Amino acid sequence: MTIIIDGKAIAKTLKDDLTAQVLKMERAPALAVILVGDDPASKVYVRNKIKACEKTGIKSIERRLPADTTNEEIERTINALNEDDGVDGILLQLPLPKHLDSDRLVQLISADKDVDGLNLRNVGALVAGIDGLVPCTPQGSLRLIKSVIDDLNGLEAVIIGRSLLFGKPMAQLLLQENCTVTMAHSRTKNLEEVCRRADILVAAVGCEKMVKASWIKQGACVIDVGINRMENGKLCGDVDYEAALEVAGAITPVPGGVGPMTIACLLANTIKAAG
Ligand code: NAP
Repeated sequence: MTIIIDGKAIAKTLKDDLTAQVLKMERAPALAVILVGDDPASKVYVRNKIKACEKTGIKSIERRLPADTTNEEIERTINALNEDDGVDGILLQLPLPKHLDSDRLVQLISADKDVDGLNLRNVGALVAGIDGLVPCTPQGSLRLIKSVIDDLNGLEAVIIGRSLLFGKPMAQLLLQENCTVTMAHSRTKNLEEVCRRADILVAAVGCEKMVKASWIKQGACVIDVGINRMENGKLCGDVDYEAALEVAGAITPVPGGVGPMTIACLLANTIKAAG
C-alpha cells in the first residue's frame, strides 16, 4: 500500500503548534511582505501567506508597490523594514518585474529577518551546518520525508533540480541527515537510471509529469515539488502521480503535498526570527 503523504494535515499540525508558541510570546511576531506589480499568481501567494499569518497570530505588514517601481524604491522599503524593530521577518515576493535586480535586492534583506533563507549568510550557515534561517520549501519537504521515514542514515537521495531556492538547500538538509545525495539537473546523463537508485526521490523541475513510474525504485519515498498548470487548468506535479502510485512506497500529491508545508515553514521561520 502506497502511503499518500498528506501535506495539508501535517502542515495543520505544525501550524497548531506554532499558534500555541505565538500565544506564549510577549508580543506577536510580525512578517512584512513586499509585493511588486500585479502578477496574479504572486497576489494569490501573498494573500495565502497573509491569511496563514492571521490564523497563527502573526502580525502581517503588506507593502504593495507598483510594477514600475525602481530598484532604489524597493531598496528604501527593505532598508526601512530592516531598521524597524517591530518587524521580525521580511519576504520579497518573487518573481519581480524584469527590470528589477532580484538577486541584489534579495541580499539587502537583513540575514536575521530573511525568512526565505536566501541571504548569503543563511545560505552559508546551512552549508556549514550552523543554525540559521532555512528556505521554507526544502524545510517543509524534509518534514514530509521524516513523517514516513524514521531513520534517513545512509539512504540514497536524488534531487532533480539545483536552484538556490530549493534543490541546493534540499541537498544540504538531506546531507545533514546522512543521506548519500545526488543532485540531478538538465545536463544529467541517464537521468532515469540515476533516479532509479533513489530511496528518496525529490523532483523540483517545473515539468509536467516528467518523472515516470519506471524511474522510481520499488518502495521509494517520492516528494513532488513541481507545480504545473495543465491544459485543462488543473495543477499537477513533476511526477506522473497515478502511475507512480503503483511503485512508490510513499508519495506527495500535487496539490496538497509540499505546497501547504511551504507556508507553514514560513510561519515557523518568522517565529524563529522573532525569538
Ligand atoms: P528553477 O529555478 O527553474 O529550477 C529548475 C531546475 O530543474 C534547474 O536546476 C534545472 O536544471 C532543472 N531541470 C530543468 N529541466 C530539466 C530536465 N529536463 N531534466 C532534469 N532537470 C531539469 O525552479 P525552482 O524554483 O527550483 O522550482 C522548481 C519547481 O518547484 C517549479 O515547478 C516551482 O513552481 C516549484 N516550487 C514549488 C514550491 C511549493 O511550495 N510547492 C516552492 C518552490 C518551487 P539546470 O540548473 O541545469 O537548468
